[in-house]
Amino acid sequence: MTTAKAQRGAEWHSVTTSPDMPVPDAMQAWVLGDPEQLSLISKPVPAPGRAEALVRIDAVAICATDLEILKYGTPALIEGGAPFNKNFTPGHEYMGTIAALGPGVDEFGIGDRVTVEIHAGCGQCKRCRAGMYTSCHNYGLNYGDRNKGHRANGFTTDGGFAEYAVNNINTMIKVPDTMSDEEATLVVTAGTSMYGLTELGGLVAGESVVVIGPGPIGLLAVAVAKALGASPVVLVGTRENRNAIGLKLGADHVIDARSEDPVERVRALTGNGADYVIDCAGTEITSNQAVHMTNRGGRI
Ligand SMILES: [Zn+2]
Ligand SMILES: [Zn+2]
Repeated sequence: MTTAKAQRGAEWHSVTTSPDMPVPDAMQAWVLGDPEQLSLISKPVPAPGRAEALVRIDAVAICATDLEILKYGTPALIEGGAPFNKNFTPGHEYMGTIAALGPGVDEFGIGDRVTVEIHAGCGQCKRCRAGMYTSCHNYGLNYGDRNKGHRANGFTTDGGFAEYAVNNINTMIKVPDTMSDEEATLVVTAGTSMYGLTELGGLVAGESVVVIGPGPIGLLAVAVAKALGASPVVLVGTRENRNAIGLKLGADHVIDARSEDPVERVRALTGNGADYVIDCAGTEITSNQAVHMTNRGGRI
């Protein structure tokens, strides 16, 4: 182990590894070349720094935002600009097993199964100090000699389309043995929906929730609302197969927005409009529908 460390760069000297989980020097990683061109190359395995761990990636989901990044670059920001031809590895919805610990890390152990969230704030800007680390003012300002400590894996730093990735300890959540690798990749997506309900003031069991838009976040919002005791949970969508998944995840009613007027249906189902409407489509039409299907004093 000492020899392996000696052969590596100085950044590995105070990293903890375990003979049970040897970390190779190089790994396979997908990198973005020109738009829509991913290639599989060999990269050095990155060393975790202070407050960081190295995660061996066991499963990764592909998000619509990944496809957007491959095509248009945004919202990824590498070296202050578009992410093309910068040796950048995308991927932000992944889980894995901790393989190495940066200096001073004792919050996790090697072998722990974890899922990850995207953002680690710099911890020093105005937004981070207020706890709003996803709005960190140092987003993307970590390249060359500049390292503000901010990471958004798969957006401003290397992500999960690789064998290993470095994560800040604040971005890892332990996964119970009963949860599969595949399920664990979606924990943060479900958390996004849950955060929405928390920001709305918290759901009271028995209140009605309408979710517009059966994408992954909308579908998980249905599941989260149901788990929190919302009643009824109504899903509005235009894709029949997606609405069917919504029923499986706990929607009490689904409304096909192509053949029915969602505002009328919601008003009929809830009496006077819904207590909460979560717009996961975000179009002009759905924003307007949300306003009209919300009960007086309800929240969107
Ligand atoms: Zn995503
Ligand atoms: Zn910050």
